[in-house]
Amino acid sequence: MNRKFLPIIGFLFILAASAATAKPQTPSASQPSLPSATTQGAAAAEEQLPVPPAARASDHFDPLAATNAYLATVPADKKARSDAYFEGGYWLLLWDFLASAAVYVLLLATGWSARMRNLAERITRFKPLQTFLYWIQFLAVTSVFVFPLTAYRGFVREHAYGLATQTFGPWLGDQLKSLAVAAVLGGLFLIAIYGVLRRAPRSWWIWGSVVTIVFLMLTAVIAPVYIAPLFNRYTKLDDPRIKGPILSMARANGIPAGEVYVMDASRQSTRVSANVSGFLGTERITLNDNLLKRCTLPEIESTMGHEMGHYVLNHVYKAVLFFGVLIVLGFAFLPGTVSWALTHWGGSWRVRGADDIAALPLFALLFAVYTFVLTPITNTYVRAAEYEADIFGLNAAGQPDGEALIDLKLGDYRKLDPGPVEEFVFFDHPSGRTRIHAAMRWKAEHLNSGH
Ligand SMILES: [Zn+2]
Repeated sequence: MNRKFLPIIGFLFILAASAATAKPQTPSASQPSLPSATTQGAAAAEEQLPVPPAARASDHFDPLAATNAYLATVPADKKARSDAYFEGGYWLLLWDFLASAAVYVLLLATGWSARMRNLAERITRFKPLQTFLYWIQFLAVTSVFVFPLTAYRGFVREHAYGLATQTFGPWLGDQLKSLAVAAVLGGLFLIAIYGVLRRAPRSWWIWGSVVTIVFLMLTAVIAPVYIAPLFNRYTKLDDPRIKGPILSMARANGIPAGEVYVMDASRQSTRVSANVSGFLGTERITLNDNLLKRCTLPEIESTMGHEMGHYVLNHVYKAVLFFGVLIVLGFAFLPGTVSWALTHWGGSWRVRGADDIAALPLFALLFAVYTFVLTPITNTYVRAAEYEADIFGLNAAGQPDGEALIDLKLGDYRKLDPGPVEEFVFFDHPSGRTRIHAAMRWKAEHLNSGH
């Protein structure tokens, strides 16, 4: 279940900005520490940035032509590579679903799940401990089964596209750490859920959804403080070249300046990114060291304006509400479906009932189907919030060209110019075309307003 459970936490609480491996534009010492949020700043930025001619300020500035000019700066081979990487992700979505579904069915049909339960029962009579011992076995077996796919997606493929910096040893180390986190958090979660299942045979789906939502919120509270530091080093932003303008923008938007962090993402990846994480007092904005090293100040300002948008617009809290509704709906389908399946196959699976931990693969299977089918809806929800953050960022930073250039960098791993249906189904962030067009539209109106 953790394989689906962790991405949900991801969906919910890490509204990640992005990534890129574009040729680093090493910031030079002569770079101006220019004040942002003024069109004067944006005009000065245009002089410093590789803005294509059709996107430069002029009397006949056309947002669509400017957008196309930006997109045309990407060489054909680079675009083909980015398209291939991103479209490969569509298939991985399917393979991930099929692989985990196959493992769950196998565990049930071969009676392996019942044997894992029997082993846990032989070791202890204490129910919560039985649940935990079953979970450890379940986690080990499912992780081993899907390992080839995990390694292909997380290691082989990332290296093939030049997005990874880790050798196999440290990568595997990170995987084992994730597994340990899943063992502890997933174990505690299941102990709570099965406690509910045993005590409330009729209304467990209501209490189960409450437990799930509360658990996700607690995870979000502790994640930036206790989980993320297991994988990366976090420090407060102290680069004087960018600290001033970024913290100024933070203060202007009512964000406590102490909440901007830098992480050493280059340990794992070449991607440029930033995110907002945390909940109920642990909220923070984090930008990664690749962003600091590879982007110009206007690009950094634009990205941080976007992240501040997530913060100010309370996207984390709204996501809890949205995913909370999906969780309740999902649980509402469970009692009928589970009892139907157990009536048909429970005997041959040697599963005693819904409150038998040996039924976990059935729950995991139903959850996998549910999240797979909902993909376009969850993507669209997240994408809509990302678009809001883009608009907020444009207004906060006033750097439309910085925004367009960072969008092109994100294009190293996200298809830049998809069709509308493709964007609706598969994109959890707006496409490069959508984002650049929004930036150029903003730029057009600020040119025309006589500034
Ligand atoms: Zn975002």
